[in-house]
Amino acid sequence: KTGTVPNADLIHYRKQHLGKSLSLQYNEPIKMVRGAGQYLMDQYGRKYLDTVNNVAHVGHENYAVVKAGQEQMALINTNSRYLHDNINDLAQELIETLPPELSVLHFVNSGSEANELAIRMVKAATGERDIIASEVGYHGNSNMCIDISSYKFDGKGGTGAPEHTHVFPLPDAFRGKYRSKDSAEKYAEEVQKQIDVVHKKGRGVGAFIIEPIISCGGQVELPEGFLAKAYEKVRAAGGLCISDEVQTGCGRMGKTFWGFQLHDVVPDIVTIGKPLGNGHPVAAVACTREIADKFANGMEYFNTFGGNPVSCAIGAEVIRTVKRENLQENALKIGTFLKEELHKLAKEFPIIGDVRGQGLFLGIELVDAEMNPLAAQTDYLADRMKDHGILMSTDGPDHNVLKIKPPIIFTKANAEELLFYLRKIMAEDFMQF
Ligand code: PMP
Repeated sequence: KTGTVPNADLIHYRKQHLGKSLSLQYNEPIKMVRGAGQYLMDQYGRKYLDTVNNVAHVGHENYAVVKAGQEQMALINTNSRYLHDNINDLAQELIETLPPELSVLHFVNSGSEANELAIRMVKAATGERDIIASEVGYHGNSNMCIDISSYKFDGKGGTGAPEHTHVFPLPDAFRGKYRSKDSAEKYAEEVQKQIDVVHKKGRGVGAFIIEPIISCGGQVELPEGFLAKAYEKVRAAGGLCISDEVQTGCGRMGKTFWGFQLHDVVPDIVTIGKPLGNGHPVAAVACTREIADKFANGMEYFNTFGGNPVSCAIGAEVIRTVKRENLQENALKIGTFLKEELHKLAKEFPIIGDVRGQGLFLGIELVDAEMNPLAAQTDYLADRMKDHGILMSTDGPDHNVLKIKPPIIFTKANAEELLFYLRKIMAEDFMQF
């Protein structure tokens, strides 16, 4: 289907029959009808360079991944109560990338399901339900996930932190509570303060959950040494440490396969989502043998679709593709080039206050001379980039961070094109303040 229904009709129908809280990108929404590699195509045949979609990890409609899914779909797809090679293969592909402590996997269908299961595991393993989470963290759309996502409960339509969620300040060394590169200890102390709050209530800590780079927070890199110190404090209080790798995992970081490995820590639970299926809904939870055994308290964990042969064929092919095509190295090489060039751009245009991130997971933050966030300029930039056929996204608590997280097959030529148009638009009148 190339999509013959006019956009106005699609919008009209959506208004009548799809939920109002589903948002659309851009004032004039685009209809995408094809994907290929790092490109998308609209119904007019217009090509867009995609710097947003970290789900299409190894490229939109990657040939090997599509083939693996199609072939398995034509053979059999059923639940994981039957033996099948594919679930073991996917487990093995992941285990090869993980530290030996994280040796048990459960498969689910989305990042939200992965975090939902992780929290259930925490409750089963520790008997505690108090969770410490970062300000502006996002972990998914289920009840429990919303309850630990400050991005949602502290945002529009939210009603604040629930009784069992304890939020510490966004560990942002650029515009956060403590603004220096050596603020790790101070932010770790903030985690300790939340541990103390839990203890004062006469309860124990269940878990500490955080992304290795806080995506919705605006691509915020954790201060060096923070994660190790925070883990130490949480573990001393009997809590478990969860690394949400739904955005950062599977090679995107460049230097390492998983984000937590940048920080020299080993979490108790790792949640994996988006990139694993390259667009197909498959996600996973990796944990220690001890946690998995405590979770298996007699109650069966059944998930109709989780771990089915089609999803596992796709997931395994995604990981194999990352390995076979050295895409982690590509993320490092292109990401490093892009980051260096963005630093140069920041020298030309002081409106770029900060350039940060790892591999192909970068962000640039726009501020004025007094460090006030420039949301309108950030929005303008993303919109104008779209006019030039480049898709970009914005985020952060003040909506002033431009995010770059393309399929990790992104090339140097793609990066140069991105930089060319960024430079051109940054020079436009509206970008001056
Ligand atoms: N964790 C993080 C860090 C995410 O960014 C998201 C999705 N944006 C989720 C969990 C939830 O994943 P899903 O939308 O697949 O349920």
